[in-house]
Amino acid sequence: MSTNELSALYLGLPEDWPVIHVTDDSSIQTAREALESADVVGIDAEWEPYTKHASASLVQIAARNETRTCIVLLDFQEVGAPACKDLLQRLFRDKAILKVGFGILMDLKAVATAIGGEGAGCVSVVQPYIDIKTLHRQLSASSAPGIGKDAGRGLSGIVEAQLGLSLDKSLQCSSWGSRPLGPEQLQYAALDAAVLLMLLDSIIAAALPGKALAAQNTERQHSTIDGEGTAPESRAQPTAASAAELQEATQLWGIRLEVGGGFRQKPQKPSKDKRPGVREQFRQDSAGSEHIGHPASIPWLGSGRPDAEPRFICDGMTEGLARQLRLCGIDARSAPLASGRQRYQAYMELASVASSEQRVVLTADTVFLRARYIDQAYWVRTTNKRDQLQEVLNAFNIEVKEGSLLSRCAKCNGTFIPRPLTKAQLPATCILSEGVRSRHDCFYMCSNEKCQKIYWQGNQYGNALQNLTARVLKQPPQLHFA
Ligand SMILES: [Zn+2]
Repeated sequence: MSTNELSALYLGLPEDWPVIHVTDDSSIQTAREALESADVVGIDAEWEPYTKHASASLVQIAARNETRTCIVLLDFQEVGAPACKDLLQRLFRDKAILKVGFGILMDLKAVATAIGGEGAGCVSVVQPYIDIKTLHRQLSASSAPGIGKDAGRGLSGIVEAQLGLSLDKSLQCSSWGSRPLGPEQLQYAALDAAVLLMLLDSIIAAALPGKALAAQNTERQHSTIDGEGTAPESRAQPTAASAAELQEATQLWGIRLEVGGGFRQKPQKPSKDKRPGVREQFRQDSAGSEHIGHPASIPWLGSGRPDAEPRFICDGMTEGLARQLRLCGIDARSAPLASGRQRYQAYMELASVASSEQRVVLTADTVFLRARYIDQAYWVRTTNKRDQLQEVLNAFNIEVKEGSLLSRCAKCNGTFIPRPLTKAQLPATCILSEGVRSRHDCFYMCSNEKCQKIYWQGNQYGNALQNLTARVLKQPPQLHFA
């Protein structure tokens, strides 16, 4: 096969996109200027393959403004990762610059590890951010026009589906920790960031509202052209999105990515707390990177605080479980059900809340789990809410304390106001039946102002406590809810 034929099959870096290899202080300055003037950047990172705790050795940023696109390669090994900290932090938090990545959490972790210490916090907020992996999956699932079906091979699958060309991944596992990097490695690394901008352009052209019709027409043209045997590169390198389109895409798909506490600088030593079983189990389960459904990190176990309590966030499919956990006094937030076109947005928000509030996501949604939005997620296998409660208590080795039973609002996860209220102290808005009013004079109110749900100890209260205490909750607690 001739070189021409090869280049027709593989995606290449456009010749007018210069590469800035940052190896010293003066090139950092050039990079800073390029990044500060950007409207949109594609971000990727490389590290030495087959290492257990990835530490980035190269960070690639494809930066584009209205006049040009260039690729900045921050060579952590040459210039030192901490020297790039300020530049990265400014970039990640600059609301005027859209950041684009492909499952960026792994990259951020590797960058944080490389920078180390306090400086690792520079990756804790990325906004606005669009994840090509999740966006493409979402649009593809909703059969958006002009969005190709991904063959399921990660980035190269989406490049093929969207740009009609192959992405050469042969250097993915080359030695990124050695220096000097060869010209092919630099070219490969630059392309991995550049392709994110091309994919964003392609998705914007196809799926931004108002553009969908135009995309449909283009798609029809392509089918005709392909039918006549034209090389597929006609679909590569879509027109760069305009500033207005980038703004619209940001509003529609952009999120604030918050990464809280999950980034450890060093592998954790097993501590001598009483939960070796669950910790060891999760470590083993998360060792295979493709294994899904077990959290790779459990924030309250890693917090170092013995009094740290389990905290969960249940997605819309496990709302019943959330209420069961709250009845046991366990902090369990709810997230709205993710569906339709907004699904990926809901996923990202779920991951973002879980990350910033140090919660483990409890979900039965395997689409969410497989997409690996967050490492702190547990796959709930059982379907009945009471079985689910037992499953989660077992999986996380949680012992429910008697004093925490019925100590939390089952409706909203709020805590109760400290002292019980008498009838006379109840808010005027509270409507209770005459029967309840005549029989009770001790009421508990949810402290959440938007909720203010009233609870009282009904006849079944004692039984409910017993049932809950038995931990195998055969019966839901029989509290009366107003
Ligand atoms: Zn409440």
